Amino acid sequence: MGEYLVRCLGCGRVHPPRAIACQNDDSLLRTEYFTKRLTLRDDLPGLWKFYDWLPVKEPLRGSGEKPVTYKSEGLARELGLENLYVSFSGYWPERGAKMTTCSFKDLEAPPTVERMTEREDDQILVVASAGNTARAFAQAASAARLPLVLVVPPTGLDRLWICEKPSDSTCVIVVNGDYTEATDFAGRLAARPRFVGEGGARNVARRDGMGIVMLDGVLSMKALPKHYFQAVGSGTGGIAAWEASLRLIEDGRFGWHLPKLHLAQNSPCAPIYAAWTRSRMETGLCPAGMYDDVLYNRKPPYSVKGGVKEALEETGGEVYGISNQEAGIAQKIFEESEDIDILPAAAVAVAALQKAVRSGAVEKNDLILLNITGGGVSRAKEELDMNLLKCDIKAEPSALSSASTSSYDNDLLTEIDEILERRA
Ligand SMILES: *Cc1c(COP(=O)(O)O)cnc(C)c1O
Repeated sequence: MGEYLVRCLGCGRVHPPRAIACQNDDSLLRTEYFTKRLTLRDDLPGLWKFYDWLPVKEPLRGSGEKPVTYKSEGLARELGLENLYVSFSGYWPERGAKMTTCSFKDLEAPPTVERMTEREDDQILVVASAGNTARAFAQAASAARLPLVLVVPPTGLDRLWICEKPSDSTCVIVVNGDYTEATDFAGRLAARPRFVGEGGARNVARRDGMGIVMLDGVLSMKALPKHYFQAVGSGTGGIAAWEASLRLIEDGRFGWHLPKLHLAQNSPCAPIYAAWTRSRMETGLCPAGMYDDVLYNRKPPYSVKGGVKEALEETGGEVYGISNQEAGIAQKIFEESEDIDILPAAAVAVAALQKAVRSGAVEKNDLILLNITGGGVSRAKEELDMNLLKCDIKAEPSALSSASTSSYDNDLLTEIDEILERRA
């Protein structure tokens, strides 16, 4: 039950079950589950029903809602499609969607946190995020009582709401700079002894968690879709959809063709789009002015073995550059035809689907899975109590940048310790 190997896609070597990166090379690791035929665990809650294909020993209680998949009527009619399915990650009680942090980061964080807890090495998890990731990790880490340091720029602070009471084991550091400076600071903190980063796309728990969108979709549709649409920043969800499809093909019940990945980015802050189409983009001001800045990632895992480029090549995929105006129109069409609010990032995927319909890249009867990666924030804010996480420590962007520790750095590390210990 729940047995798997973790293998490097480059050197082929098998790694310990909770490894994050290969010691020999830069390639992604991938899980190989012993169970080839997916059986839903109806005795387990939420996303843990997909336990057979998650790299954990135990489910994490109190965390991990699953997405819902349904056949679209409203949007399908607008676009003239006969077989459009929506995978919805967010808060939409009437449809059974109960992710209170309202995005599909809720699929990544619980398995990642559970896997981290199972390492039993008492490390402190460090997460840098502009919003959705921070909220999902705050929720999952508090369910696991895992110490967590969240690193955000000042502009990210007002997005740090969660529905649970903020956990005592979470420490929020506000880095006095922009998002890039916060991310760089988090990277340096994670490299210090006792701290550890969550690994991003490299962590198989993040990818296999996000892969649930495809698993849940295929179980609902009873077949692999011909097309998969998603808005991407890092592209991790695209890799995850491809990997989940490979497992579903091996399962044998759902068809033999990989779904074509249609990945959407917000122009001009679109490094994956630029790399795939070999075009130049003016990204100097990014992520300022984006339709949704969760879609900006400076260093997506594009060319590495097992990364976004390979996923696109293997699936005959396509990348779309979506303008703010196109995303705005798509958001309105979706919200009016499906009667639920969605996150701006998800509207970028809807715009890509509109483009594909217009260009003939998808046909009327094709089986399509549209990943609505976040939504229902307005619904959740109406119905649920929200708590804002507060800044515990302010840090300068230059902190921790020299190899030798300055007195400023020492004070900062002591302060983090004290906060986490006082609360432990
Ligand atoms: C993170 C995020 C994305 C992009 O996900 P990746 O697959 O990691 O690129 C899309 N939509 C929402 C709402 C997100 O939070």
